[in-house]
Amino acid sequence: MQLYQSNPIKLYNSLTGKKETFKPINEGHIGMYVCGPTVYSNVHLGNVRTFMSFDMVFRYLKHLGYKVRYVRNITDAGHLENDADAGEDKITKKARLEQIEPMEVVQRYTVDFHNILNTLNFLPPSIEPTATGHIIEQIELISKIIENGFAYEVNGSVYFDVHKFNETYEYGKLSKRKLEDLIHNTRVLDGQSDKKNPQDFALWKKAEPQHIMRWPSPWSDGFPGWHLECTAMSTKYLGEQFDIHGGGMDLKFPHHECEIAQNEAAKGKSPVNYWMHANMLELNGQRMSKTTGNTVNPDELLSGNNKFFTKAYGPSVIRFFNAMSSYRSILDLTNDGLLASEKGFNRLMDAVNLLDDLKASSTSSIGVLAWKQKCYDAMNDDFNSPILLAHLFEAAKYINQIKEGSETLSSEDLDILKDTINIFVYDVLGLKNTAKSESGTDKLSGAVDVLIRLRQDARANKDFAMSDKIRDELAEVGIHLKDGKDGTTFSTN
Ligand SMILES: [Zn+2]
Repeated sequence: MQLYQSNPIKLYNSLTGKKETFKPINEGHIGMYVCGPTVYSNVHLGNVRTFMSFDMVFRYLKHLGYKVRYVRNITDAGHLENDADAGEDKITKKARLEQIEPMEVVQRYTVDFHNILNTLNFLPPSIEPTATGHIIEQIELISKIIENGFAYEVNGSVYFDVHKFNETYEYGKLSKRKLEDLIHNTRVLDGQSDKKNPQDFALWKKAEPQHIMRWPSPWSDGFPGWHLECTAMSTKYLGEQFDIHGGGMDLKFPHHECEIAQNEAAKGKSPVNYWMHANMLELNGQRMSKTTGNTVNPDELLSGNNKFFTKAYGPSVIRFFNAMSSYRSILDLTNDGLLASEKGFNRLMDAVNLLDDLKASSTSSIGVLAWKQKCYDAMNDDFNSPILLAHLFEAAKYINQIKEGSETLSSEDLDILKDTINIFVYDVLGLKNTAKSESGTDKLSGAVDVLIRLRQDARANKDFAMSDKIRDELAEVGIHLKDGKDGTTFSTN
């Protein structure tokens, strides 16, 4: 018997707007697709939040004994800059600005993406397909959609006919939009576009002469539209219908709506049974945006080199912080929030580190099995990680009480407590037992603190050459000092 048989999951399905009992298409197997990054710049922290939430989902489903095929793509064929299918593609633009090949842009930021996710202790997906590796599949899909009468070619470009599609199917069912409203709210075309209607979207674009990323097709030398790759790659690896499709809330419309339309137009089937959307990440109560400067990169968060936070935060503290909110809530990144999660993480780990010292008694005064079930119930309820954390803190309280002798556990119950904590802390939440180094109490921290104090003395004596030497030589061995208003802290990233 597998754990999933006794742990039915309730999952909030964005398509129906309800929590539903999850039932996979093939018993014991799950196909899950999550839209990956476009690799033209450093991965956005908001995207990291989305991927981290699905990493937790993936970890929990695996723990329950499901065989999960998790596909997360890399978008390495440039998207056009705006939804009207116009403008330069982002990868080509970056390549032009930096005077390098588009594929160098792709390589650089794919490596950056993997490095950040490894640092944050992500499990790799089962398959990580690239858009450029699936051009043939995308061309086949377009041909099928044209054949079925839901797309048309104009001047070498192919557009999806949303109005025609809506006669047979329902465009807007995921994002709860009506085509009439979309028509009402769209500006009239200015005659520059080849589209029949502004709501239509590109499946294939003919490349302008200066466009570097291009492929031959029956219609023109060009490149696929923004939404097509995910339809091609998800169904190639997971089948024409699969269990879970995830992504950030901002992808619901038009991206995911168009994925549904493309699959229905090509295969006559809605591709996904359960749509899951992770909510947005804000910074100090405001939308993160490069234009306003209210943004921080993942490595700036990890190194402490940013203007928003007083210190560096370690990977497990960041994961803990993410788990403190449901994936469906807006998460507000603040210094106070991060400090609180660092405290919470250290408090939890201090208790976990006492586990091996606990002595078993002949009887138990705590109902460990009931507590264990509450941990599962929390995750079974739409992956409710904040409730799970509350139960883990309850266990931290038990651990301290057992150590003090005010509560007891039999050796059998003690094993259950240890196993369950290990499962949820390490396997499901993906935390690492770095409490000591992250809380600054181990020998390394002690030694660096000594050097920080020596540097302060040097500065007080106006010996700036010595102060800089201490900072630079520490940096050479990978220890970075950061001077903040509350003193100097360090990171080892
Ligand atoms: Zn996608």
